[in-house]
Amino acid sequence: MANTLYQGDLPDGLELGPVVAIDCETMGLNPHRDRLCVIQMSGGDGNAHLVQVAKGQTRAPNLCAILENPDVLKLFHYGRFDIAAMQNAFGAVTAPVYCTKIASKLVRTYTDRHGLKNLLQDLLGVDISKQQQSSDWGAPKLTKAQLDYAASDVLYLHALRDKLNARLIREGRMEMAQACFDFLPTRAGLDLAGWPEQDIFSH
Ligand code: MN
Repeated sequence: MANTLYQGDLPDGLELGPVVAIDCETMGLNPHRDRLCVIQMSGGDGNAHLVQVAKGQTRAPNLCAILENPDVLKLFHYGRFDIAAMQNAFGAVTAPVYCTKIASKLVRTYTDRHGLKNLLQDLLGVDISKQQQSSDWGAPKLTKAQLDYAASDVLYLHALRDKLNARLIREGRMEMAQACFDFLPTRAGLDLAGWPEQDIFSH
């Protein structure tokens, strides 16, 4: 199990397999204002690959090839934000996708706690620290604590998806979940295009 940090893009020829967990760290929650700083990825083998994004950087061809590859499922927790952040930075629309937060909302109807920390505790018995979440991700040199935290956000998403899929099947909500995942890149696009909070389905 190792964390590897790269500058600007993934290296040529890195194979992460058919299901890739992805998370982003940014300067804040407004994609038009707050730049993308780090993108974490894992193929589900316990290793994390972290890409530090430079200020003003607009291209990351190896990374975008994965985002846009129709044969690679991208696994997120609250993908809506990460998909918008990466589309805003690089112009790449990520698909197909799976979101553990959406899956959780469809099956864990007995709670309103759908944060990653809660999900990992409830479904996998894993404890992760969220202490570094609001640290300075724009720093030129990231700390070991930041890198470990960033990695922990992608290392358990494959196992989490397995647990959530079992629940989705049990509750007969897999098809509905899949339709939500298929719509998610469009939902992220609406965020960027000027409909961030408005529910266009409401009356
Ligand atoms: Mn994160």
